[in-house]
Amino acid sequence: MRSFVHTTGPSRVIFGAGTIERVREEVERLGGARVMLLSGGSPALRKDVERLREGLGDLVAAEFDGAVMHTPVEVTERALSLVRERRVDCLVAIGGGSATGLAKALAVRTDLPQIVVSTTYAGSEVTPVLGETVEGRKTTRSAPEILPETVVYDVELTLGLPVPMSVTSGVNALAHAVEALYAPDATPVTDALALEAVAAIGRALPALYEDPSDMEARANLLQSAWLAGSCLGSVRMGLHHKLCHTLGGAFGLPHAETHTVVLPHAMAYNASAAPDAMARVAHALGVPDAATGVFDLVRQAGGPTSLRELGLTEADLDRAAELATAQPYPNPREVTRTGIADLLSEAWQGRRPQPAAGSAPDLRPLTDEVVASFDGCANPRLRQLLSDLARTLHGYAVRNDLTPQEWQRAIDFLTQAGHITTGTRQEFILLSDTLGISSVVDALTNSRTPETTSSAILGPFYVAGPPAAEHGADIAGGLEGTPMWADIKVTDPEGTPVGGAVVDVWQSNEDGFYDVQLPDLDGPVLRARFTTGEDGRFTFWSILPSEYPIPDDGPVGRMLSAVGRHPYRAPHVHFLINAPGHQPLITQLFVRGGAYLDGAPGQRDAVFGVKDDLVTHFTPHTGPTPDGRPVQGEWRLLDFTFRIAPSDGERAPTSSTETA
Ligand code: NAD
Repeated sequence: MRSFVHTTGPSRVIFGAGTIERVREEVERLGGARVMLLSGGSPALRKDVERLREGLGDLVAAEFDGAVMHTPVEVTERALSLVRERRVDCLVAIGGGSATGLAKALAVRTDLPQIVVSTTYAGSEVTPVLGETVEGRKTTRSAPEILPETVVYDVELTLGLPVPMSVTSGVNALAHAVEALYAPDATPVTDALALEAVAAIGRALPALYEDPSDMEARANLLQSAWLAGSCLGSVRMGLHHKLCHTLGGAFGLPHAETHTVVLPHAMAYNASAAPDAMARVAHALGVPDAATGVFDLVRQAGGPTSLRELGLTEADLDRAAELATAQPYPNPREVTRTGIADLLSEAWQGRRPQPAAGSAPDLRPLTDEVVASFDGCANPRLRQLLSDLARTLHGYAVRNDLTPQEWQRAIDFLTQAGHITTGTRQEFILLSDTLGISSVVDALTNSRTPETTSSAILGPFYVAGPPAAEHGADIAGGLEGTPMWADIKVTDPEGTPVGGAVVDVWQSNEDGFYDVQLPDLDGPVLRARFTTGEDGRFTFWSILPSEYPIPDDGPVGRMLSAVGRHPYRAPHVHFLINAPGHQPLITQLFVRGGAYLDGAPGQRDAVFGVKDDLVTHFTPHTGPTPDGRPVQGEWRLLDFTFRIAPSDGERAPTSSTETA
């Protein structure tokens, strides 16, 4: 059992496009009348700042555009004198983590309410944490009043964030989410937020790289920034954040870029001590290994991959390792001086980290190559089916870490299925049936017209072209069993009789065998073809079907016994209806009260063929029969109406009459 404490900061979030227009109403909601507008003076945001200023109108009492990275206290002091001089009662910041940092630094000194219009993915706006620089040393503190009261996310403002900055800022958010997953105080809520953020960032970054104006990708990234920032505000971060903090504070490296370079290496360092978290990150990103997956994501999106390109010198590495290991902090793997020195050296050189020991190799290029080999196929449907089959099978092998022996076993199994298959024994249909695929395909094709009778699988014992029979004929050919009188009608969905419908009927005998399984029988028995009269009706005598095992002396039977499954089918009669102007219907009627209709999965019908509306009464009777035939003892009545759909010309008919 997992024990945890989860605290959520009381901040209000407004998310959307054009939400910058709502800042004034937020100021008023917080009781502000004398606003100080804070920004970093970036030309890229000038228009947005103007728009905000106009929106706030007479509420603006002061403006300060000197926010810079790492929140130096001397900058804060200058802004603070302006706050006092102009009797400011509300702070509105627009920009990334630097503008937010300044608002937080002022709020912690004055307790003024803050509204932050966040324009990067740094996530600072939803944390109660402030990092400040005093004489070149960065310190952090946390307090409730540091958390902004309202955060406004306006996706339109992020459209101007250049791609390189979007990538590094997005990876900054990714870092919060990754470290939240192995944080000692993680909770189910932070886990969920983090995983959602990881998956969305993994999809959004390549999309943004392709098309920087992709609003959907921008929105996903901004939303992920909020989720990942919420994780950062809720749980304690580990090695990665410590390293970035050290490199930013002591060596002046740029914030988001440093996160981007360090993250894959910090993940590789921690991989052996946080295998679950890394497996979840890998799964969310759809890659075999989390650390290399993040490195590749950054490289593909054109982000920086080495500390060298950020301006760190090789001579600084030793001191960086010393600073980063000076104080203990929570991290899944023990932080050692040599370990960190190695990590920093790798990051400085920009090497791709080693995949975690035991992780699967990256087989995506191979899969892509196989899929691309179908590109020349002129039939688009065939190309789609083969491409997806290759992807699905490759994924199956990778997910299950398939061994050559297991794959050989599968090939042997299919070979045996081929060898045992004859004109009357179809092992591949049995395999398809017992794996439920026949029912899936049947449901996909035939379950879209609820006003008609449900379809069911064809099964392996259909024989094309059964003998034609007259109404009232006995198709049991003298076989023993409880006599059964079938009175069958075929109508359209409105109940109008369908005359001239050709209906093939086939079933097993009392012992559960079909005629094709009984070589001593002379000719087809318990199978016939009827044609409905003008009233849509036909009748016949047969015998009550019983439950029976599907043939289990082949590889499919061995598969069932290997997994402890029985081979039995619930008792039923098959029907295949073809009528001019109507869609064909392949179905089965099951004997209500019969065996294998109920029970746990694996205990019911072996081929997953039963549908509720196909379970019907085969009502017991004694005495006179409908056509006056003398019967001693009990006989059964099957009285059923099939409703078939008119052909609409849109869906291909599902006739399987060619199947042996
Ligand atoms: P930033 O705020 O310094 O912005 C980087 C640059 O991008 C600036 O020049 C800025 O003007 C520009 N910019 C921002 N938004 C833009 C947009 N939409 N279009 C065009 N240009 C835009 O950088 P950052 O990465 O957002 O924040 C880094 C700072 O935030 C650091 O000081 C870091 O320590 C801090 N931070 C703090 C926390 C926390 O919880 N306390 C969390 C994350 C980051």
